Formats: sequence, structure tokens, C-alpha cells
Amino acid sequence: MSGTFVGMPAFPEAAREAVRNTTLRANLRHATHTIRDKRARAVAELDDWASLREAGKQIKDHTLRNLEHYLLQLEESVTAAGGTVHWAGDADEANRIVTDLVKATGESEVVKVKSMATQEIGLNEALEAEGIHAYETDLAELIVQLGKDRPSHILVPAIHRNRGEIRDIFEKEMGSWGRPAPEGLTDTPAELAEAARLHLREKFLRAKVGISGANFMVAETGTLVVVESEGNGRMCLTLPETLISVVGIEKIVPTWRDLEVFLQTLPRSSTAERMNPYTSTWTGTAREDGPSTFHLVLLDNGRTDTLADEVGRQALRCIRCSACLNVCPVYERAGGHAYGSVYPGPIGAILSPQLRGTQSEIDASLPYASSLCGACYEVCPVAIDIPEVLVHLRERVVQGGEVTRHGTKVTLRPAKGHAAERAAMRAAGWAFGRPAALRTGQRLASGTRRIHPRTLPGPGRAWSATRDLPKVPAEPFRDWWRRTNGGQTEKGGKK
Ligand code: SF4
Repeated sequence: MSGTFVGMPAFPEAAREAVRNTTLRANLRHATHTIRDKRARAVAELDDWASLREAGKQIKDHTLRNLEHYLLQLEESVTAAGGTVHWAGDADEANRIVTDLVKATGESEVVKVKSMATQEIGLNEALEAEGIHAYETDLAELIVQLGKDRPSHILVPAIHRNRGEIRDIFEKEMGSWGRPAPEGLTDTPAELAEAARLHLREKFLRAKVGISGANFMVAETGTLVVVESEGNGRMCLTLPETLISVVGIEKIVPTWRDLEVFLQTLPRSSTAERMNPYTSTWTGTAREDGPSTFHLVLLDNGRTDTLADEVGRQALRCIRCSACLNVCPVYERAGGHAYGSVYPGPIGAILSPQLRGTQSEIDASLPYASSLCGACYEVCPVAIDIPEVLVHLRERVVQGGEVTRHGTKVTLRPAKGHAAERAAMRAAGWAFGRPAALRTGQRLASGTRRIHPRTLPGPGRAWSATRDLPKVPAEPFRDWWRRTNGGQTEKGGKK
């Protein structure tokens, strides 16, 4: 079983630890810079990239506005094609449904396609608790699982590991999970890939149950789509007798035609490929072709609540390409684990607090895990304005107040450290609402500027330790304006 994020400290604390790890920073810098440069070249090849991006945004927004309609259409299509649809309100319900389905087959092991949704709900841990072993078959997920580690990137979960570390994990751990690593394994990519291939092959051939997520679900035909680069997904989707797919309700698109957009934008944004190497689609079940039993578990787990937030709902457009992670200066330095969630980086900073709520210290800290530079928005293939949502969520955290979570009202508590910010904002609000007081304050600040400290006292010290405090001018702007414009106020009247 992989490690979990339960009990992780808030982002500032976890990030402080992470940035001290020079190996981690070197691994991340090398990997993210390589992927981001390749992505930029792949995107630049298309003259109509901006139109594709806009089309992706529009399709997703339209679908989210009519989500109920398309979900019901999908259920009907999947059922007509021989599949069974289950609805899961939260993680516990989804885990219970899947565990019961696996138990009903009489099997005690399953093979898995890489899936963010099943990581989000902690499915592997839930299955393990019931004596069912789940084997990850994506190479990076396998590294994470064998290393009892946690994923740190959406697309490349073991991005924080280098080749030497991977060789050591394979040598040490493969034997206790199945076929051991070959004797004298080196750290060349070809040898590492071959070791993984041999280790996984016996699992593919033995497994009777496969578990997947899906990148897209097509409402009109009930078709599910998985895109991947290694072919392991294709094996899990075709060889077992039973296939169980756990998919977030936002992964739906109305028609096959809509896929045309995403099958162009997703590979270029994620792996910088023009076309995805393996694109598997399946519709229900077919005689003597692939699994004979198919279950689709539709997962809410906070998505309906997210949809209710007019600003925050755009996070549900995400197609999990990870382009925003690869350009983020904060992610590049802090790494994925510091985000305390299976969704790291900029998208994690806006998605996790919405799916899980901002009540916990870690979720309340995530909207601040950004410099708001906007690089994430620039590269996002569905134009999610991540900085806008971050600021919106910061406001929510600072204000406290109520949100609806799983159908009930929850009172948000400002996280530790935000009380000072709230007090400062209140003071600013008070001053800006009283021009006379503001003018007096500005004159006082100008008159005393020579004795202003260079750093802030108390909790503000950490902020000013790495920033220059702005210099207060000798004369407030309004006084200067009046003096140089014959006594006119900045609004044009005489004072
Ligand atoms: S937010 Fe945009 S860039 Fe980031 S993973 Fe999602 S789709 Fe990709």
C-alpha cells in the first residue's frame, strides 16, 4: 500500500521541509523544465491552439451547466450497453460499493489503471482493509506503491525520484510483491522498464478484476475513454473478466464530437505528444471481447458543492493534464507532497479545498500556496483562471462564514495566522471608508517616514524578511496633486 496524506502539516510547514531537500529540488527542476519546454514546442505547432482552448472551455462549461441532464443520459446509455451504474455521494460510499463488487467476484486481488479518482477516495487502503490487494500497473504508480511513497505529480507520480532511487526500490521491494527484479539491475531506463514489464506481466495474466478511472465519459453512447502512454491501461481494461470504473461526475462530455477537442489538447499539454499513444474506449460489455461485467461508479465527493460556487466551479473543467504543475514556481520548489493531497500544484490548491472544504489547517493554507504569477492560467488547455479562484478561496478562508458540504451547512473557521490578516483588512476597510481619517493617516505616515522600521515587528517579520517595505513618499499624492493643480482636488473640485 502507498503512504497516505492523512495527518500532513499545513502547506507552509510541509514546504519548508521540502525546499531543504536538495535532491528533491534537483529532480523536480530537471523534470518540470524538460516537460514544460517540450509542451511549449508541441502547442506552438498548432495555429488554432487558442480556438481549441476556448472550445474546450465552452464544452466543459456547457456540460457543467447541464450536468444532471447529461449524467442521466449517460446512465441510460451505459445501462443499455450492458453496464451497471452506481452513484456514490462520497468516498466512503464509493469504497463500499467497489469493495462489495470485488468481494462478489470471490477474488482477492485486482489490477489498476492509474486513476486520480481512486486515489482521492483512498480505494487501495479501503480494499486492503478488506483483504483485497490492489496492484498499480502504471510505471510511476508502481514505483510509488513499491516505495510505500505518496504521489507527487498528477501525471508523473514519481517525479520526485531519480533513476538510482528507482533501481534501489525495485531491487528491494519487487520480490515481496511478486516477481523480483532481475539480478544486476542497473539504472538505465530500458532495464528499469523491462524489470517493471516482467513484474507486471504475471499480474495482468492472473487478474480477474480490473479497476480504472476514466479521462472522459461520452453521454450520448455511454462510452468511457482512458488515455495513457504505456499500454498497461489497455491490458487492465481488456484482460480481466470484471471491470470497475470509478469516475468523477465532472468527467462527462455530451458527444463523441467533443472528444475531438480534448484528444488534441490533452496529449500536447500533458506529455507534449501530438497524439496519445494508447487511447482505449469501451461501451458497456460485448460478447467475447473484453470484460463480461462492467460497473461504473459515478463519484460526487464534493463536486456538487463545488459546482454551486460561481467562481470556484471552473476547477471542474480540469482535464488533469498537469501543465499547470510544470510551470508553477512554487510547485517546482516545494514538490507535490507539501500540498497534502493527491492533487498537487496550482490545480490542487484550488480543487482540494473545494472538494474537502477549507475547515482543516492544510486546506485553509492551500489557497496561499501560490505567488499568483498567472503562469498556470496561461498554459491551462481549458482556461481555468486559477489565480482568480485562489483569491476567491483566500477571501473565503479569511472571512470564515458558511458553505454547504455534502448537503449540510458548515461553518468555516479562519486558519491560524489569518486573524492578523483579517484585522489588517478590517482596519484598511475602515480607513478607506473615511477620507478625512485616511488623509490624516497618510500625512502622519509621510511626516514620520524617517523613523519607520525597515522590517515589520511580530508576525509580520517573516513577510518583511524577504521583501522590501515600500518607501512612504515625503508628501501624500493627494496633497501633491492639490499643490500642483492650483488647489483642485483629484476629482476636479476646489478644496
Ligand atoms: S488546471 Fe488546467 S493546466 Fe492544470 S491540470 Fe487542470 S487542465 Fe491541466
